[in-house]
Amino acid sequence: MALFDLTGRVAIVTGGNGGIGLGMARGFAGAGAAVVVVGRNEKKNKEAVKELEKLGVPVSSQVVDVTKEAACRKMAAAAAKKHGRIDILVNNAGTNIRKQPQDYTDEEWHFLIDTNLTSAFHCSRAVYETMKAKGGGKIINIGSMMSIFGASFTAPYAATKGGMVQMTRAFACAWAKDNIQVNAVLPGWIDTDLTRQGRAQIPGLHERVLARTPAGRWGTPDDHAGIAVFLGGPASDFVTGTAIPVDGGYSVQG
Ligand code: NDP
Repeated sequence: MALFDLTGRVAIVTGGNGGIGLGMARGFAGAGAAVVVVGRNEKKNKEAVKELEKLGVPVSSQVVDVTKEAACRKMAAAAAKKHGRIDILVNNAGTNIRKQPQDYTDEEWHFLIDTNLTSAFHCSRAVYETMKAKGGGKIINIGSMMSIFGASFTAPYAATKGGMVQMTRAFACAWAKDNIQVNAVLPGWIDTDLTRQGRAQIPGLHERVLARTPAGRWGTPDDHAGIAVFLGGPASDFVTGTAIPVDGGYSVQG
């Protein structure tokens, strides 16, 4: 069996137009899968499509705000119509607002919960019937080191990322009978737009990450290509409900 061959499979990546999502999309495309890039920014979507197409696979994009349930359902239906099936969903779209807990507004709390957590609930349910009808599928939820640890400046974000891991376990139990494996990936500190913003806002963050990470560097989006191929294909058919760090050892440093 070709354990890491995704030829003929179709992968939807929310937030696939940049950062970690694009790194995972590169992994899927490199392994032969068709990719559907989902994001709100059409220009970024188009640039990602142009890049991924060079890998010789079918690629499409959709402008979608994944906080909206109806939009997620429409997105899944359009992806299935265009590519004929949905085998892999990566719930990667996410953002952060960094403040002390007492300083958040209710709106900011709900915005973060909707963007990082509710979106994954919507998108997973939106692809379920299609995956089930085709005999199975793979869902990959993006957590964080904040799925495991706390930090003073990230209470709502940590709540969403802890929630992602628990939701992963619940979906894994519910949909194992349908041959759908649901796993979480917990990136360490990765150099993307999101953390460039964080480094500008949190003094000393850059140096603290370097000191704490055994690998001695920040991660890159492309560090997530391998885990995407593993969790997106037949190599992981008996792996479900897990939360796998991709962190250069950050989470095991004593
Ligand atoms: P980026 O800011 O580079 O990417 C975020 C992506 O999410 C963009 O593609 C953005 O596209 C998309 N997105 C945001 N909101 C929505 C929305 N409402 N609807 C659709 N798409 C949306 O960040 P990262 O690559 O760093 O982050 C990706 C994921 O990884 C997030 O879930 C983040 O929490 C997680 N993560 C990141 C870490 C890091 O160190 N960078 C560490 C741990 C976890 P657009 O703007 O076009 O909508």
